[in-house]
Amino acid sequence: MLLARLTHVSQEVAATSARSRKIALLAELFRDAEPDDVPIVIPYLAGRLPQGRLGVGWKVLSRRVAPAAEPALTVREVDALFTDLAKVSGAGSQAERARLVGELMGAATEDEQRFLFGLITGEVRQGALDAVAVEGLAQATEAPPADVRRAVMLAGSLQTVAQALLADGPAALDRFRLTVGRPVLPMLAHTASSVSEAVGKLGACAVEEKLDGIRVQVHRDGDTVRLYTRTLDDITDRLPELTGAALRLRGERFILDGEVIAFDADGRPRSFQEIAGRVGSRTDVATAAKEVPVSPVFFDALAVDGRDLLDLPFTERHAELSRLVPEPMRVRRALVSGPEDIAAAEEFLAATLARGHEGVVVKGLDAAYSAGRRGASWLKVKPVHTLDLVVLAAEWGHGRRTGRLSNLHLGARTADGGFAMLGKTFKGMTDAMLAWQTERLQELAVDTDGYVVTVRPELVVEIAYDGLQRSTRYPAGVTLRFARVVRYREDKRPEEADTVETLLAAHPEVRP
Ligand code: AMP
Repeated sequence: MLLARLTHVSQEVAATSARSRKIALLAELFRDAEPDDVPIVIPYLAGRLPQGRLGVGWKVLSRRVAPAAEPALTVREVDALFTDLAKVSGAGSQAERARLVGELMGAATEDEQRFLFGLITGEVRQGALDAVAVEGLAQATEAPPADVRRAVMLAGSLQTVAQALLADGPAALDRFRLTVGRPVLPMLAHTASSVSEAVGKLGACAVEEKLDGIRVQVHRDGDTVRLYTRTLDDITDRLPELTGAALRLRGERFILDGEVIAFDADGRPRSFQEIAGRVGSRTDVATAAKEVPVSPVFFDALAVDGRDLLDLPFTERHAELSRLVPEPMRVRRALVSGPEDIAAAEEFLAATLARGHEGVVVKGLDAAYSAGRRGASWLKVKPVHTLDLVVLAAEWGHGRRTGRLSNLHLGARTADGGFAMLGKTFKGMTDAMLAWQTERLQELAVDTDGYVVTVRPELVVEIAYDGLQRSTRYPAGVTLRFARVVRYREDKRPEEADTVETLLAAHPEVRP
């Protein structure tokens, strides 16, 4: 496929706000794509680079190169060049990078140059494009959208499913089955501002403790146990206690979904940082396990006795969970019949907070298990306002923070796929966090004026704040009051960050 075709569709998709039009545009593009184009086309559309970091700085990018008159570059040629770029290292690397970028830009038309520039700097990132791409793919191949969505959840990647569909048509979807030992994309929670809003939306529901740990998917097949994170990384070797716990359960072949947490001597939950440190550390697992022993708390069953439970209502999946997992290893919950029973839900929330947890997740009892952003049958409610925002830039610190990137520029997602800055913060950071972000943000840097370093919008950070106030300085017309960093969310992609729209919906008091 020609890069010009992709560039054109990308511009058109960004320019229209109608979802059905976006889907039609993508369907047309997929009809023209060859299966081998897919691993490039899908990330480019979303503004992602399959190579991750290219190490190309502003200096190299800002050199003007005369554009080609006619489009000739293919997406696969661009991809090959990016792969070469990502490999450049050692002495003379800046000159070599400049040469490769010059070669690429010289072969691109003006429109294509703009697109490539945006791709390298992260400016063409298109918010929730993957969900629209699923629909476009279904339309292009005449496969039912729900089946495509399910296959993506099972394969763990849109690209894998797109390649199979384009090569073999809808019959290819049968290949994607729930298999013990192969991780699936986890079901995610949306936000509600109160339990009454959540119960109002869902009706009969389970109100569960929201544990502040790390998501884990536990697969057991006989004596073999495998553990996966939310981003489907295999962490089996890091958490022997979990493997042991899974082997002591009654079933032989199952997939369970839950959270890894740790308790202190008084039975109160230990901090997220301690658990994250434990899950993240690969070395000396035995000592780490002694210092911060962790345990699983399960809330869902995806397969039991090798049987696929995904399409069953939550009530039935939970019955299977209860059969397998003893109560202390299941998340605490209260069943609520609907809005008339709201007092029970409020009471459960209060008790959960008193036990030191961060809030509740309210779950519809009829809902199937489904990954992705469609439908919202899991709603999280937390009393402290937090937002997942994207770091757009950072300022060099003063005084004690000289040499550290400190004040963060924070952005929420906008409807057109970009980011709107909501404010800045340098509060809430530990020394370790400052050191880490200084290094990480420099890797993502695309521009600097010597004071503000602009970065590829890739890092998601959880921010606590006390409220919103109107502001003429920021593009969304509002800014955060007392914003402070809670933690970095490396398990989230920028596409999963909060949007200006949901933020404004949660704060009717500032709406104009
Ligand atoms: P967040 O990461 O803030 O969007 O909240 C969703 C996350 O909360 C899930 O991915 C889980 O890791 C975690 N979580 C904690 N308790 C529960 C629960 N009872 N049900 C579902 N998710 C939970």
